[in-house]
Amino acid sequence: MIPPLLRLARAIETSLRTGGASLGLTPAQAETLRFAGTVRPDVATIGQLARVLGVRHATAVGVVGPLVARGLVERRPHPFDGRRRVLGLTPAGQGVLVRLERLTDELANALGTLEPSEAAGLEVGLGAIVAALRRRGALVIAAPCAGCIHFLPDATPGSNTPHRCALLRRYLSDAESRLACPEHKPAA
Ligand code: SF4
Repeated sequence: MIPPLLRLARAIETSLRTGGASLGLTPAQAETLRFAGTVRPDVATIGQLARVLGVRHATAVGVVGPLVARGLVERRPHPFDGRRRVLGLTPAGQGVLVRLERLTDELANALGTLEPSEAAGLEVGLGAIVAALRRRGALVIAAPCAGCIHFLPDATPGSNTPHRCALLRRYLSDAESRLACPEHKPAA
C-alpha cells in the first residue's frame, strides 16, 4: 500500500507544482489563494493561514505579500473585530483560483475510472491516514461545521442563525455552517 500511496502523493504534488508554476504561483501561494477563497471570513487570518501551511507567522506574511502586490489577495477588516484583519480574494484572485482548481480535474478524472469498491477502499484508507495526521497536529484541514465537536446544530430552531459554534461563541446560518473552517475538530 505505501509505495503506491507515495507515488500518488508525488504525482499530485508534481501536478500541482507544475500547474501552479504555470500561473506564476508557488505551492504555498496556491494554497494561500485556496485559503483566502474558501475559508470562512471570520477565521481567514494570517495566523490561521500559518496553521494550514504549517509555517511560522512571519513566513505566512511573506507568502501573502506578493499575492497582495499582484492584486490577487487583499487584507480586509474582520467582520466582528475592528482590531483584526482577514484575507480575501480580489476578483482577479477569484479568476486565478478557478484556473487553479481545474488543475485537479485530471486527478479527479483518474479517480473517476476506479470501481466503486476501489474508490471506497481508497477513501477509507486515505481518511484514516489524514485523521491520524490531524490528531498529531501534523495536518490542519479546513472543513465545514458538520462533524465538528464544537458544532451545535439547531441550537435555536426557526431562527436565521439556528446553529451555534461553541468555540467561536457565535450563532451561524446554514450557509455559514457550510463554509470551510481551519478550527474544525472532527469527533473521534
Ligand atoms: S463549529 Fe467547528 S467548524 Fe464550525 S465554525 Fe466552529 S470551530 Fe469552525
